[in-house]
Amino acid sequence: MNQAKKVSELQNIINSSNNIVFFGGAGVSTESNIPDFRSAKGLYAERSGKKGFSPEEMLSHAFFMKHTEDFFDYYRSKLVYKDAQPNNAHLALAKLEQIGKLKAVITQNIDGLHQKAGSKEVLELHGSVYRNYCMKCRKSFTLDYVLEFEGVPKCDRCGGIVRPDVVLYGESLDRSVINKSIWYIENAEVLIVAGTSLTVYPAAGLIRYYSGKNLVLINKTPTPYDYLANLVISASIGETLKACV
Ligand code: ZN
Repeated sequence: MNQAKKVSELQNIINSSNNIVFFGGAGVSTESNIPDFRSAKGLYAERSGKKGFSPEEMLSHAFFMKHTEDFFDYYRSKLVYKDAQPNNAHLALAKLEQIGKLKAVITQNIDGLHQKAGSKEVLELHGSVYRNYCMKCRKSFTLDYVLEFEGVPKCDRCGGIVRPDVVLYGESLDRSVINKSIWYIENAEVLIVAGTSLTVYPAAGLIRYYSGKNLVLINKTPTPYDYLANLVISASIGETLKACV
């Protein structure tokens, strides 16, 4: 099937359903110029870790606890893309939700771009840079508070450390977000999975809950689930979805 045919096939699938769920990985945000951690061109290839630490170590719970100031230096410069704008994928998904076709977006990204595009039901498996809280008293803080603070951000009420509500390596995912994601996937008629190689937890595990008949994969490289999909598209996620809405 050529590309144009695949897009029109996806269009048919979208037209025929009012119960679509979207599951997205880093590839959804790379089109907004946010680097993919795990891809060859992503952060991990940089090996620019301060003091000999790899980026993966620097984004771990252990590093955060031990080298909190270095963590925030690294986090502010490499993980936060405040000026990034939603791309065609985010915008198309927001529109699909608005017209009643899409039930939920499940994302591994922490950049808040789905909400910026207007999506309402967004399940953030790895949290969001836009939510921050005091580790002592749980007061909430904005992203700007964390970005503008000199050094380790401290709570203006109790002096506790203010941390981002993002899941670091070595930390567990929020069970309620996982359960809700499973529920949406189990009950979806159409599942569109995009921008993830489906090789790492939790993506690979979550997809197994889908038992419907319309699995669509949009990814630049092959995934271990391609054989289960009705439709595999290896093209820009933004362009593909834009052509369908
Ligand atoms: Zn506090």
